Amino acid sequence: NKQVVLKNHVSAGLPKESDMEIKESSIQLKVPEATKDAILVKNLYLSCDPYMRNRMKKLEGSYVASFQIGSPISGYGVAKVVDSTHPGYKKGDLVWGMTGWEEYTLITAPEVLFKIQHTDVPLTYYTGLLGMAGMTAYAGFYEVCSPKKGEYVYVSAASGAVGQLVGQFAKLLGCYVVGSAGSKEKIDLLKNKFGFDAAFNYKEEPDLDAALKRCFPEGIDIYFENVGGKMLDAVLANMRVHGRIAACGMISQYNNEQLDAVHNLMYIVPKRVRMQGFIVSDFYHLYPKYLETIIPHIKEGKITYVEDKAEGLENAPAALIGLFTGRNVGKQLVVVSHD
Ligand code: NDP
Repeated sequence: NKQVVLKNHVSAGLPKESDMEIKESSIQLKVPEATKDAILVKNLYLSCDPYMRNRMKKLEGSYVASFQIGSPISGYGVAKVVDSTHPGYKKGDLVWGMTGWEEYTLITAPEVLFKIQHTDVPLTYYTGLLGMAGMTAYAGFYEVCSPKKGEYVYVSAASGAVGQLVGQFAKLLGCYVVGSAGSKEKIDLLKNKFGFDAAFNYKEEPDLDAALKRCFPEGIDIYFENVGGKMLDAVLANMRVHGRIAACGMISQYNNEQLDAVHNLMYIVPKRVRMQGFIVSDFYHLYPKYLETIIPHIKEGKITYVEDKAEGLENAPAALIGLFTGRNVGKQLVVVSHD
């Protein structure tokens, strides 16, 4: 059973491939009979997610637990049940949810696990569009941003797993949508594939405030925050009255030893801005409703999704780290096995 194992905790700085190692261990391809309510899965696709950086730290009092040194790291993935003592699952079932970064995983308490019902769409989509990232975009945009037709929407890290969907949801609602990302290739995707009205490469903008004023001469109604730091500061100075900020993530801060100071917070007072953080798992009860709308959208070509697939567990550490340098173009996932 090939595994991606954490070698040491990484408190600050960009993680290195050498912080993880590929190991082989033996595993019985059967749930031990005495282990009730467990399933053994074969992992097919693994999702690389920014919050996993936090789990590489030695954490206390966080909403997620640290990865254990010497154990395979874990995260969202798509898997096939090969054996089960759980009444809700049987051999051959396809599932997405929490699993290990390894070929086979024994899941003893399947809490965050969803059975896959729709198989006439690409299975890899359950690592992103039809999984956690999709639910993040859906809940974050519709539930947290209170969006209205015609509003001015700004999305940072806009070509990524979550951002590309937020932009498309906002366009479907009839908003004016601008995205930022870190390369020309990503800007082209935003404008030509995902239908954003405008986009800019934040790495080539010496003055983010000026870039936002150029894109939003009348200000921003909704900011879908994925980045934090300097970007958040610039946005705060450009919000409209009664604007909303959905604080989804702040990836620019995840490797920092000290968090960047935010200087422009005071603007939320005169502008009556509502800024709200959220965690996707609080909204999983909406998943069936999400599927009802998104599956037809996919089939009718109203929603498109770009994925970046790393082949093989050997390439998983580099794929995960690549999220923090912007190497991924679209949703980053790892292919462990195609069936
Ligand atoms: P992405 O697919 O967007 O990948 C991460 C991207 O972030 C990179 O490709 C890079 O794109 C950008 N990035 C990396 N470092 C920086 C930096 N220093 N400054 C600016 N941009 C940077 O990831 P996801 O779509 O999966 O996640 C997007 C955000 O949503 C993250 O903040 C994540 O933590 C958050 N999230 C929150 C959830 C919740 O429940 N609240 C659930 C899921 C995700 P570029 O080339 O454009 O720089």
